[in-house]
Amino acid sequence: MAVQLSRTFELFERAMRVVPGGIYGHQTPALLVPGSYPYFFARGDGSHVWDVDGNEYIDYLCSYGPIVVGHCHPAVEEAVLRQMRDGNCFNAPTPLWIELAEHLVELTPFADWAVFAKNGSDVCTWAVEVARAATGRRKVVKAAGAYHGTHAWCSPLPAGITDEDRANVLEVPWNDLSALTALVTSESSAIAAIILTPFRHDAFHDSELPVDGYLAGVRRLCDQHGIVFILDDVRAGFRLHLGGSGEYFGVRPDLACYCKAIANGYALSACVGREAFRNAAQDVFFTGSYFTSGVPMAAALACLRTLAAEDGIARMDALGRRLCEGLDRAARAHDLRVTTSGPPALPFMSFADDPGQSLNRVFCAAMAERGIYLHPHHNWFMSAAHTEADIDRTVDRAEQAFKIVAAER
Ligand code: PMP
Repeated sequence: MAVQLSRTFELFERAMRVVPGGIYGHQTPALLVPGSYPYFFARGDGSHVWDVDGNEYIDYLCSYGPIVVGHCHPAVEEAVLRQMRDGNCFNAPTPLWIELAEHLVELTPFADWAVFAKNGSDVCTWAVEVARAATGRRKVVKAAGAYHGTHAWCSPLPAGITDEDRANVLEVPWNDLSALTALVTSESSAIAAIILTPFRHDAFHDSELPVDGYLAGVRRLCDQHGIVFILDDVRAGFRLHLGGSGEYFGVRPDLACYCKAIANGYALSACVGREAFRNAAQDVFFTGSYFTSGVPMAAALACLRTLAAEDGIARMDALGRRLCEGLDRAARAHDLRVTTSGPPALPFMSFADDPGQSLNRVFCAAMAERGIYLHPHHNWFMSAAHTEADIDRTVDRAEQAFKIVAAER
């Protein structure tokens, strides 16, 4: 099926001349089937986006997470415009700095304070430093393959990184409490922090929920050994529970990191924490040219209030379930076996017996050509703006895409 993407390719050629790789990082087109996907977007509205060639898509990536109440949600945009008219960036914060910190503390049962930055990487690295300052220890434990950002201690690719950058990082397999217990028992006097995402959402992998007792076991180990439990809720935060994904899975960390969905696409991240870490939080130097900007904070307050007012969390859960059930049904009709994984608000689908996810590339490319934007190797995101009609249209297009996959198999 031919899609008109001439403007995308024209722009990409220009980008390649002046930007290394054209588009880099998680948005690199290298992971997508060329000729099926647009590389540049022009606008968004609710659950739909339009590329630079005018093609329309139902958006299941939501900008890889930030868009949670829908593109250009009027409540968020009005708050943004109001603050923009007064100014964004000053010599000191606006009062929104306090209002948003108070709001996060109110929403989060374990938190007594909040700090703000711009990216998920900023707050994940800072949280590890706070744990070091609080404990006087050096090491940090993470799950092998888990993504916590671009900084040297955890960057997924080796270029430009030294062994010394990784010297204090220990890795354990996700969901393996005995491996973690063994590691903590042998190294406890050196471990400052355990940092985990609330569920496993590694790229190129089915998502995995924590097994019964895993997160409670992590909490117990941290308490027994004086280790700081950091929940990296950058990807899932505010999609599963307004009090943080720990509430959804029944665990309360010491520090939690947020970014993506906090401000519906405006640049903001946050870390919230317990009273016991307030002094350490004050001691670790943390700043950035734009950390105090008012516009993203106005967006965050409007976004979080809209999510609550529209019952967005329950909506995303219900819509995600409808999508997964529909895809599963459509696949079976073509004698294909698929696995849907992850919490419904951050769903993912892969094919059985497709280790390199190459069938998923065929499927997702066929979907993109039919106006449904999915990623073959990265979990998807629901927004509260998706509708039942979006899901039904998606499942209808999936029936056509599964037919193509069945023919290729
Ligand atoms: N942690 C997790 C779990 C993430 O998903 C991401 C971003 N994908 C990050 C940290 C880093 O966030 P950012 O890209 O905003 O630096």
